[in-house]
Amino acid sequence: MNEVVRISCDIDLDVPGIRQGVLQFPLSTDASAWGRLLTPIVVAVGEESGPTVLVTGASHGDEYEGPLGIMRLLQDMPGTAFRGRLIALPALNYPALMAGRRLSPLDGGNMNRSFPGRADGGPTLALAHWVYTRLLPLADAVIDIHSGGSSLRFAPSAVIHELPDPAQMAATRALAEAFAAPFTQVLTELDSVGELDGAVEALGLPFLSTELGGGGGVTPQTVAMAHEGLRRCLRHLGLVDTAPPPTLRSRFLYVPETGYVMPSRSGLLDPIVEVGEAVQAGQVLAKLYDIDEPLREPVQLLAPQQGVLVCRAARGGVARGDTVAVVGAEV
Ligand code: ZN
Repeated sequence: MNEVVRISCDIDLDVPGIRQGVLQFPLSTDASAWGRLLTPIVVAVGEESGPTVLVTGASHGDEYEGPLGIMRLLQDMPGTAFRGRLIALPALNYPALMAGRRLSPLDGGNMNRSFPGRADGGPTLALAHWVYTRLLPLADAVIDIHSGGSSLRFAPSAVIHELPDPAQMAATRALAEAFAAPFTQVLTELDSVGELDGAVEALGLPFLSTELGGGGGVTPQTVAMAHEGLRRCLRHLGLVDTAPPPTLRSRFLYVPETGYVMPSRSGLLDPIVEVGEAVQAGQVLAKLYDIDEPLREPVQLLAPQQGVLVCRAARGGVARGDTVAVVGAEV
């Protein structure tokens, strides 16, 4: 049986030039019987051959450094000599971005838990499947810009994983060094099933993700990091010849599974340490108060290891089981 194909791309991805278009997915709703979900796609194909780089943003719809940094990058391209091909999906989960939510309001889909996707799934799974089957085979490297979203705040970081293949690991590290965020987390994921990260890494390609800020908004610094970091990666990969010089050398931090801090009960979180600060093992990172018992001694949330606080809860109220802090260690 032929596989169902419900996504179509209305631009050519091979002919030299810079074009914007949409991925169309049929979407029949109360408001629009024969409607479509339109996901923006941009391709820049150079006259000279070179590698293909896929960049994605807003996999989670409450993370804005990706779409903003990618749009800045794309608007530079007409005035830039380039070779090879840049394919950009600045709003991978477009409905989530429009709603300002992590997950798609259409189907509850978490784009970065949906790979390799399903052709006959809802919009999130179907789009993941299209990216997996149509774009990843073209790509020589993939960069997926994330940040903390509404619930987390990060010390601005590139994110990579420990990979068994030394050549792939070296290429991935080099990409993170080129991006030059203040930190690079070599992250042990809490839940890697369905991530674009693993899907790309399994193909043997260099993959770079980021965690650039959070709290559901952006800062001038984090958007500039996304834009300039992407441009430096394009230069590193050979697409462009110029990029803003890095202002620093990224500090690599290993984040083990034991680096995550979760409270055993819900409460109001009083942060003591800010992201990016050095911490000692056992140091108090935050205190958890019980608003129903104001005189009750707060629970102290302690650093599980020495290192740097790379992430903390962005919200005041946290629940049992939330990640409220993450500590990475310099090696
Ligand atoms: Zn994200």
